[in-house]
Amino acid sequence: MEPLINDKYTDNPNERVLDSVIEKRNAGSRVVGMYCGYAPVEIVRAIGATPVFLCAFSRKTIPEAETVLPSNLCPLIKSSFGFIKTDTCPYYALSEAIIGETTCDGKKKMFELIGHIKPTHVMDLPQIPEEKEALTAWTTMVGKLKTFLEKTFGSEISDDRIEAEIKETNYKNRLMNDLFGYMAHNPPLISWNELNDVFGLEYVSNSGELKHLLDGIRVKLDQRLSKGEFVGNTGAPRVLVSGCPVGGDALKVFKAIEEAGGVVVAMEACSGMKGYSIVIDEDTGDPVSALARAYLKIPCSCMTPNQRRFDMLDAMIDRFRPDAVIDVILQACHSYNVESYRIEEHVRGKHGLSFLKVETDFTESDRAMIRTRMQALFENI
Ligand code: SF4
Ligand code: SF4
Repeated sequence: MEPLINDKYTDNPNERVLDSVIEKRNAGSRVVGMYCGYAPVEIVRAIGATPVFLCAFSRKTIPEAETVLPSNLCPLIKSSFGFIKTDTCPYYALSEAIIGETTCDGKKKMFELIGHIKPTHVMDLPQIPEEKEALTAWTTMVGKLKTFLEKTFGSEISDDRIEAEIKETNYKNRLMNDLFGYMAHNPPLISWNELNDVFGLEYVSNSGELKHLLDGIRVKLDQRLSKGEFVGNTGAPRVLVSGCPVGGDALKVFKAIEEAGGVVVAMEACSGMKGYSIVIDEDTGDPVSALARAYLKIPCSCMTPNQRRFDMLDAMIDRFRPDAVIDVILQACHSYNVESYRIEEHVRGKHGLSFLKVETDFTESDRAMIRTRMQALFENI
C-alpha cells in the first residue's frame, strides 16, 4: 500500500517530528517539555511556545536510570529519567521549561530528581474529580501554570490567545476524530503505526497544517477503499488496545497482535485516542476555568472513581466494534493494573467481548509469550 505520508521521513517518522520542532525553535518558538495529558497545551501554545512530549519509551536508558531508581518501577518513568540522566532526549535538550503533574507516585517523585536541571513546574492534580473542590483546586493549578510560563518567558498570556487556542484544539480534535473513522471501518483502512505518525505530527502542527495533512491522507485512504486495500487479513479479529501509554519498545504489543493474526482497530490510551476526546467550552470569558473543566475529565486510572474510562470504552466499543480488548499494563503501574480487573468484568459482562491483560515492560523477553497468549485469545473468537 502507498504510504500515507510520503516524504523523506517515511522510513523514519520520529525524525520528522524532531526536525519540525528544531525548525520551530530556530524560527524563534520556545519549546516546553511535557509528560502527560493533563497539562493544557493551549496555555503553552498561547505564549507562542511549542509543546513536546519527552522521550520515555526506550529500554536503552533504563540501566542508567536503575543506578538511581528502583528496578521494580514503571519502565516509562525509568526510561524518561534515564534519557535525562544520560542527556539523550533531544526534546528535553530543546526544552526551556518542563511541566509535570502529580499523577502517580513514581512520576511525582522522579520530578524531584530532575527539577533542578531546567525550570520545572509540577501541577498538583486532584484525584477525586467529582468532588466540587477538585475543580476549584485544578482551576487554581491551571492558573499557576499560566503564571509559571509568563514568569519563565517574560511575557503575558492574554485570555484572547487562550480562547483562540481552545478553538484550535476543538477543531483539531474534530479532524482527528473524523480520521479515526477509517480505523473504525470494517476492515480498517489505516494501521496503528500510520495513526501513530499522525499523532506525532498533530502535536507540532496548527489546525491549518493538520487539515492540509489530513486532506491528503483522506484522499489516499479513499483510494484504498475503492481499490479494496485494507489493513490486516479478511476476518482478522478486531482489537481495541486499552491501558497504559504505549510507544517505542512497548510497541512490541501492537506488533504481537499482528503477528498473532489480529488487527488493531482502536487505541484507548493517552498515547492513542484518549486526548482527542476532550471538548473545551469556547468563548466563556474565563478560558482558564474552561480548560480546567475539560482536562479534569480525562479518564486516567490515577482518578477515583474513574467511571469516565468505562463510559469512554462503551463509546469506543460501539464505534470501533472490536472482538477483543487487550489491556496493556506497564510493569508496576498499580493504578492501571488494579483497574484492569473491573475493565475485564465490564468488557466481558456488558459487551460480551474477549479480554486479555498483558503486563509487560520494554524488554523483548516476553514477546513470544505475549504472541502465544494472543493466538490463544484469537482462536476462541
Ligand atoms: S496514563 Fe495518566 S498519567 Fe499517564 S500520560 Fe495518561 S493521563 Fe498522564
Ligand atoms: S504508566 Fe502508570 S506508573 Fe507509569 S507513569 Fe503512567 S501512570 Fe505512572
